[in-house]
Amino acid sequence: MGTIPSETIEQIAAANDIVEVIGSYFPLKRAGANFKALCPFHQEKTPSFIVSPSRQTFHCFGCSAGGSVFRFVMDYEHVDFPSAVRKLAARVGITVVEKSRAIGADEDRQYEARRLLLKLHAEAAEWFHANLMKREIGEPARKYLKQRGITAEKAKRWQLGYAPDEWDAFGRWARQLGYDTRDLIISGLVKAKDEDDSGQNQISNPKPQTSYDRFRGRIIFPICNDVGEVIAFSGRLLKDGEEAAKYLNSPETPLFRKGSVLFGLHKTKRALIDANCAVVCEGQLDLISLFEAGITNVVAPQGTAFTENQGRLLKRFVDEVVLCFDADTAGAQAAERSLEALLQKDRAWFNAFAYELTVRIAEMPTGQDPDSLIRREGKEAFEKRIADAPEFFDYWIARSAEQTDLTSMTAKMQLARQMAIAISYTRDPFLRGELTSKISSRLGVLKSDFETLLPKSQRERAETVEAAAVRVASAPRHDIAMLCLLALRDEEARDFLCSQNWREILAQVAGAEILARILASDLRPSDTASLNAFMATLSSAEERLVSSWLLQKMPPNAGTMVQKWWLGIRQTVLRHQLEVARSRITIPQLSAGDIVNLQKQILDLQQQLHELSQPVG
Ligand SMILES: [Zn+2]
Repeated sequence: MGTIPSETIEQIAAANDIVEVIGSYFPLKRAGANFKALCPFHQEKTPSFIVSPSRQTFHCFGCSAGGSVFRFVMDYEHVDFPSAVRKLAARVGITVVEKSRAIGADEDRQYEARRLLLKLHAEAAEWFHANLMKREIGEPARKYLKQRGITAEKAKRWQLGYAPDEWDAFGRWARQLGYDTRDLIISGLVKAKDEDDSGQNQISNPKPQTSYDRFRGRIIFPICNDVGEVIAFSGRLLKDGEEAAKYLNSPETPLFRKGSVLFGLHKTKRALIDANCAVVCEGQLDLISLFEAGITNVVAPQGTAFTENQGRLLKRFVDEVVLCFDADTAGAQAAERSLEALLQKDRAWFNAFAYELTVRIAEMPTGQDPDSLIRREGKEAFEKRIADAPEFFDYWIARSAEQTDLTSMTAKMQLARQMAIAISYTRDPFLRGELTSKISSRLGVLKSDFETLLPKSQRERAETVEAAAVRVASAPRHDIAMLCLLALRDEEARDFLCSQNWREILAQVAGAEILARILASDLRPSDTASLNAFMATLSSAEERLVSSWLLQKMPPNAGTMVQKWWLGIRQTVLRHQLEVARSRITIPQLSAGDIVNLQKQILDLQQQLHELSQPVG
């Protein structure tokens, strides 16, 4: 996928009035110059959700959600930025042509190819489904599903299917409908005859008689994208213990990228948001059983282990995941040596940590999986298991205590060392700090001792952060916010700031990165579309900040105000430099030359500060 040019983003922002867009989702009420509504992102009784037609932004004073028209569509529909852009483009009839892609005929061809693949997948899903529900060949599959508690009604709801145990049943059917073998091979539903099972495609001009069906003698689960279009399939063998793989998935195709789709998400995303927690189970049947039993905040990572992309995807919906660990695997691994092996094998915890998800572990009893368990114990008992699931590190400590003697200091430090490595995957320093305190207290070791076990690179990183804090001055947040507001909204103020040596000054001020980005961008204050395009380059947290600033009243004389605020920043920086120089001069081992230099520097800084405090102009 290419990137969307910023001119296109501006054009789309200009054509989509934010009041109309949000108004098409729910009614807005006029309130003075703005519009108001009950916030869709948090529960409230009186409206604190403001849409500004003059700024073309939204902001909630309750939960501080806010941003551009793109952000609204992203957050409301839970889609990524390119999807939001395409959606808004389609709304006003603008064609989005992504850079780095050939344009014109090629673009059309790709679009056509994608449409054809989606149509083929939709029709294939119907065909597999009809095999299961209506045809005689589907009998063994019906029997199998019945025994697994999947009624006809459930099979219909999930559009389950059956692929006959024949070499060319699907291919024959599809070719009769007019699909050519080349397209069938691209879809992954059919394999070229000379293609081995490792999935190496050789698609150069295959002949019809040289292909065979990928899915044979399997229950078929359609895999959907998050808007519910079928983009791939997963096939399960009817009987366990045959030499073929139990589950077989579609290969990577133009529609399907492995490891970035979660099975069931199109049906479960609402429940995920409501629960703010995702129950992650292994297989599609587990997911269907849980969902049908009323536990609807579930996802299945699709055969492969829980990947980084899936972690990122889930973080859009929830802050917490509960991993249902198969007792069989856990048990076997535990017998081997320690939980570490298991953790190495299933990196779910790692990918979850990397995205700042809280991880809890629900271990299934030996010989049980979520599917069998919920059928045996029912919804409430299962919910209790989920609610009682210990946090990842508690689980780990408990498991380790079973296997090793944690009263031995050596064993304890060995475990602490492993945990320190696990913690180091957490990117957020605050979360890492919290985990460090928690684990050291659970293990009964000193926090400072535990910290020395953290990988060296991380300790160094922490030290650099401290060193950086000494180098930069801290200006009051409000001053930075005011300058941002002026730079965003007033042409004259922006021109003034851009003419200053802002790069050098702002590099020395903590928390001024956003102001530097505003000044570095080519946004035009009088043009709300360019403002929306700029906001599209920000993180969601930055966008919230900017949308709240935009709703503040502008000072009447922006041109002189900006000079006053800027002066304040420069004074802050000089005072900080002065402070650093004064503290340096007290260091005992300085040479005479160093002292003279520092004295000169101090005098120079004092002079500069004095000049700055003279009235402007
Ligand atoms: Zn809100």
